[in-house]
Amino acid sequence: MAVLVLDKRKKPLMPCSEKRARILLERGRARVHRMVPFTIRLVDRLREDSVLQEVRIGLDPGSKSTGIAVTRESETVDESTGEVLKTRVVLMLLELQHRGGIIRDKLTSRRAFRRRRRSQLRYRPARFDNRTKPQGWLAPSLQHRVDTTLTWVRRLQRWAPIASLSTMLHRFDTQALQNPEISGEEYQQGELLGYEVREYLLEKWGRKCAYCDAEHTALTIDHIHPRSKGGSDRVSNLTLACFPCNQRKSNQDVRDFLAKDPKRLARIEAVRKAPLKDAAAVNSTRWALWERLKATGLDVEVGTGGRTKWNRKRLNIPKAHCLDAACTGRVDTVQHWQQPVLTIKATGRGSYQRTRLDRYGFPRGYLTRSKSAFGLQTGDMVRAVVTTGKKAGRYLGRVAIRASGSFNIQAKTGLVQGIHHRFCTLIQRADGYGYSWAKIALQQGDARTGAACAAALSLHGLNPVVSRAIG
Ligand SMILES: [Zn+2]
Repeated sequence: MAVLVLDKRKKPLMPCSEKRARILLERGRARVHRMVPFTIRLVDRLREDSVLQEVRIGLDPGSKSTGIAVTRESETVDESTGEVLKTRVVLMLLELQHRGGIIRDKLTSRRAFRRRRRSQLRYRPARFDNRTKPQGWLAPSLQHRVDTTLTWVRRLQRWAPIASLSTMLHRFDTQALQNPEISGEEYQQGELLGYEVREYLLEKWGRKCAYCDAEHTALTIDHIHPRSKGGSDRVSNLTLACFPCNQRKSNQDVRDFLAKDPKRLARIEAVRKAPLKDAAAVNSTRWALWERLKATGLDVEVGTGGRTKWNRKRLNIPKAHCLDAACTGRVDTVQHWQQPVLTIKATGRGSYQRTRLDRYGFPRGYLTRSKSAFGLQTGDMVRAVVTTGKKAGRYLGRVAIRASGSFNIQAKTGLVQGIHHRFCTLIQRADGYGYSWAKIALQQGDARTGAACAAALSLHGLNPVVSRAIG
């Protein structure tokens, strides 16, 4: 993972390698500016005297986490064809875990408490549902996703000379589907178009087999009216079928194949004819994020899910949020993607409410008025070196404070309880996020490339055990 570099006035310079950072620190030419992500500040350099290259942020906005890739981009001209090839060298892979689920749960329980107070504990007549939502309103859990992603784009802008950004907005390119003659070599060769069609069909048919509703299985593209009987290749004649169904159907007409199931036949015909609206391919959160990203003044490139997948398969890169982020948009080669991922978990900055409630909404206990104790705050990253007793050892992680001075540390190995405050040294102040490093977390349905990824990681001296995460 690259080290972020600032100049002596805290303006971003090009990130450097870990080795170079170590040399700079040893020679006294740099100071540690921030621990996670590791950032150094050169004491003898100004941004004006430095050469900067194009650094790009790639985003893969997801519901539970957003993949972020910081890449250095370069263009080379292919001598033989005169084509411009875009190469991305991955500098950093980040995975930002959202807390939308926690926000939703908290609001739900608060709503329940209030409802109970209104109805059971005292009487108040119902009011009219007279509140309107402003245009573009997002639920707080979804708004959080937009805000937190934008926070990280801004932070990275502060630490690295970011010039451009690629994000995924649509799942597929609707224009390419309607007009296969659309310009671009990749489209004309038909391979990229194939990926856009696939994503379109997955969305349209709800990611399941049209004939037996099988989910989480390999789906094949099926011609509703078989080609051998004059059915066309148009997307309106295509559906998804699991392998057994596709085999059984073979070259039968759909009316013969579903003769015993007229209900399903009618439904397939109805879905087949209904064109999928543009809006279905882009959800409101991604749309809101895109609007906000445009306002940052970066050069924003929009990619589709189909193109990302096409890039990824072509370059033989496994499926993970942060790697999808590196493959978003127009790119010909991606290098150095085999590296650990910094997982950033949105934790919030503690609660404003100082009363703890039981599950009925009655006070259960109270938090201290002050959020800090013995100079530390919940969420600070600390190192504890315990020299004596049962808990002897070294621990690094997020601290949870207690007024008693006996703290808990969320270390890599698990929660360590009852560490006295005098063993703790502050590493980094709480900033609303928890940090940890992980190997690339593969998503489900990518067992084939998993082995390739494990081999690549072991080359880089990492344990080849690849943790699986369901995406
Ligand atoms: Zn099936």
